[in-house]
Formats: sequence, structure tokens, C-alpha cells
Amino acid sequence: MRSVIIDGYVDEPACLGVPPYISPYPRYIAGALIDAGVSAHDVHYYTIDQLRSEPRIIEVMDRADLIAVIAGLTVPGRYLNANPITLPEIGDFIARYNEKIIIGGPVRLNQESVLRNECVAKKDLEARIFDRLTEKSDTDRWRTTTEIKRWSVKGAHIIRQHPSFPNNMCEIETYRGCTRETHCSFCTEPLYQNSSREILEVVDEIKALYDFGARYFRLGRQPDLFTYKGIETNDGFKPNPSAIEKLYKGIRTAAPELRVLHMDNLNPATITEFPNESREIAKTIIKHHTPGDVAAMGVESGDPSVIRKNNLQLHPEDVIKAVELINEVGSRRGENGLPELLPGINLLHGLKGESKRTYQHNLELLQTIHDKGLLLRRINIRKAIKFKNTPLEETKTHINKKLFHNYRNTIKRKIEVPILKQIAPKGTTLKNILTETHHGQITLGRQIASYPLLIKIRGKLKLRIFIDAVVTNHNHRSLTAIPIEKQHNNHP
Ligand code: SF4
Repeated sequence: MRSVIIDGYVDEPACLGVPPYISPYPRYIAGALIDAGVSAHDVHYYTIDQLRSEPRIIEVMDRADLIAVIAGLTVPGRYLNANPITLPEIGDFIARYNEKIIIGGPVRLNQESVLRNECVAKKDLEARIFDRLTEKSDTDRWRTTTEIKRWSVKGAHIIRQHPSFPNNMCEIETYRGCTRETHCSFCTEPLYQNSSREILEVVDEIKALYDFGARYFRLGRQPDLFTYKGIETNDGFKPNPSAIEKLYKGIRTAAPELRVLHMDNLNPATITEFPNESREIAKTIIKHHTPGDVAAMGVESGDPSVIRKNNLQLHPEDVIKAVELINEVGSRRGENGLPELLPGINLLHGLKGESKRTYQHNLELLQTIHDKGLLLRRINIRKAIKFKNTPLEETKTHINKKLFHNYRNTIKRKIEVPILKQIAPKGTTLKNILTETHHGQITLGRQIASYPLLIKIRGKLKLRIFIDAVVTNHNHRSLTAIPIEKQHNNHP
């Protein structure tokens, strides 16, 4: 059974799979194929960018018995060196490969007609593939945690076929689904069945990936790392510091020479409700992670009316407390040149109840944070997408383009650039920058990290090498730097 996995990339609020990241999807699919009896030699993995540039891959697909295509950007961004799969490309695949193709990933959450085709998995792609091979059935279902325990390890070798290998970041799942009883109006996470992995199973997967050469890991596939293995109480899920300690210690033992261990996604409401447990967890993370880490927080809005109408959980004063706590524990500079752990803030527009005042409320919130001398590693502002089966689906909303544009520029000028100057002042040495592409006479590079800063270096340096460089200037979300160290091919 020759199989081909085409990675069209995913970008969800709680999962990233755009190179250099590799999401769990292709790894689980590879594991499901092998678990169903396919030989590992017959599992071929390519990214959509490889497919576009290497025509021979089409021949491999033509000869394959089964093709799995992963697709879905529920929070699309702009990517350096990567172009996600397009709907016309998916349409072409369906027309060409019809019976032998199955498409899945968060793509199922979209509403485009091409994606209503019966070859699109409505639940977990890996489960449907496994059932097709073992039961000869093509029904949609969620995978079980026992299956993920097996598939995550059996499919780990696939990372070696990723074009960024060995410099790819493995996105790791701890749990998915939302533990709240009522949900934020825009969010797609509650559409997933809640499932939480055991700590040892996560560690076993990391060990398997590490044994195949993975050195970069991000605990990114969950809506709130601090409530992983949390304890259910009347006030919500209480964080479980000893579980997080066990997880991080286990990872460090399984992957002793890892080069990056970062996190993603923290619900700031967890910090306001459980500050002591949250502080303990933040300290544990600092102890075992690598610096330059980011706790991205879904704040969404500082406007009380938007907060109420969209069932958001927290108010500006709560956000400030959460930002303070992460700063208190994590703002010390680490050995790679960046602070250990800083908060990020996500803001969302196009929600119910939004008005001109919303922009003002959000600016006031950010200004207060800045005035208090607190650091934010990133501010992500995006427009909400109305997904099917979310409360926002039927809501009529309007974004005033001019206002939005001015607001973003004000945030850049008054908040982002000044904070970036504090995070990486001129003269800071940033270590292990991977040179990735040329843009005219400039080399663009990034540290392999959660939300890496873009670093611009004058001159055309050799690509795919690691360098250290000194910061000379700041732009919005990027730095200019000059190399100071002899180039080295491997991250030390
Ligand atoms: S708390 Fe809100 S944003 Fe977070 S996962 Fe639940 S519904 Fe989504």
C-alpha cells in the first residue's frame, strides 16, 4: 500500500504546522498508516511547497494507492518561505485522484463548497484513514487517546522527510477541546471532542521524535497549557503544578540535548482565578524550558460590551494582572539574548458589540501595560473569521477599515516598537539565528522559536546556517543585526 501525505499546512489558534513547524497531523497520519499495516518505506511525506517545485512528486502521487492531504488555516498569517495549499489546488487534487484521496485537518471547519466533497474528513483524518485500511469503512469519527498513544510514536520518523529537518519545530499536543461550559463566540476549539493525553504518552512521543533527530519542540497544541491535567473545581479548572513539573522533567529526561522547548497558549483567566498555582507553573516552565519563550494569551478585547456579548471571560484589569505575573517570573534575559518567558496578547476584531469605542478601550489597555513598564513579546491583531457552528456565524459585524488601519499603526508606533527596544536593546547578542532566505541584498533569519523575531542582516549570507548577531536597529516586529560569530552549520 503506497501512501503519500501532502502537508498543505495548518494554522489554528491552538496548533501550528507551517514550516519550520511540523504539526501533529502528518505524524499521526503516518502512525495510523503504519498501525494499519503499511510499511514505513511506503509512507511518503511532502509539503505543498515541495510538490510545487518538484514535478516528480506528482508521479509518486499517481502511483500511490492512498493520498492524504492536510489543509486548513483557521487563523491565516503571513509566512516566510511557505505558501499554504489553496482551494483551487485542493479542487485539482480531488478531480485527479478522486477515490484514493482523503483530505482533512481544520479544513473541515471551512465552508467552501469544494470542501463539502465526500473525500473530506469531517472529523479526524487519521482515524478515517485507519478505518479505511482496517475496516474498509469510510465513516467520520474522532480518534481515541489510545490510538494517539500508538500513532504519535509510530509516525515519529516522518519528521526526517520534512524539508526543514533537522531544523524543524515539532508542535506537540497535550490536550484539545475547551474545558469551559460556555464558549467564546468566535472559537472553533469547542468543535473538537475534548481529549487529554497522559503525561507519559506525551513524553514517549517526544522521546521517539528525539531518537529520530528532532531537537526543537513546542507544547503548542492545547488552548491553555496551564490547565493541562487541571483539577475540576466549582471555579473552573484549577492548574496542576505537579503535573506540569512532571511533564517538563519527563521531556528533559527523554530529550536531554534538546535545543528549544517552548510553549504556546495560556488563558489569562487561569492566572486571575488561580494566581498561586499559575506562578508555580510559570517558575517550573522557566526552570526547564529554553529562553525566548512566549505565553500567548487570547485577550481578544478590552471593551466591556464586546467582552459581555461574546462571552469572553476576562476584563482589562485581569489581563494586566496576568501580564504582570508572567513578567515577574519571566522577564529576566536568557542565554540566547531574549527574555526567558514573556506574554503575548491576541486581539480580535469583528466581534459582536464592537464600536469605535472598542479601539479606544484596546489602546488604553495596551498603553496601561506599557506605562507600567511591562513587556509584551508580541501583539497579534486579527479579524475574526465566522466559522460554521460557532455563535459568531450568524452575527452581522462590520470593521471600519480606516479606523482599523490607523489603530494598528498607532499600536505599532506607540507600543510595539518601544517595547521591542526594551526586549532586545541595541547591542544585544542574539544567538543561533538560522539564515533562511535572501531579500535583495539582505539575509533574513530567525531563531527557531515560538513566534520568532525576524532578523535582517545586510549582505547575502550562506543560507541554512546558524549565526550569532548583534542588534543594531528596530522595526515593527523585526530587528536589524550584524553577525559576530563564525558561521556554524549546526545549532550548538
Ligand atoms: S476559553 Fe474561549 S477561546 Fe479559549 S478554547 Fe474556550 S472557547 Fe476557545
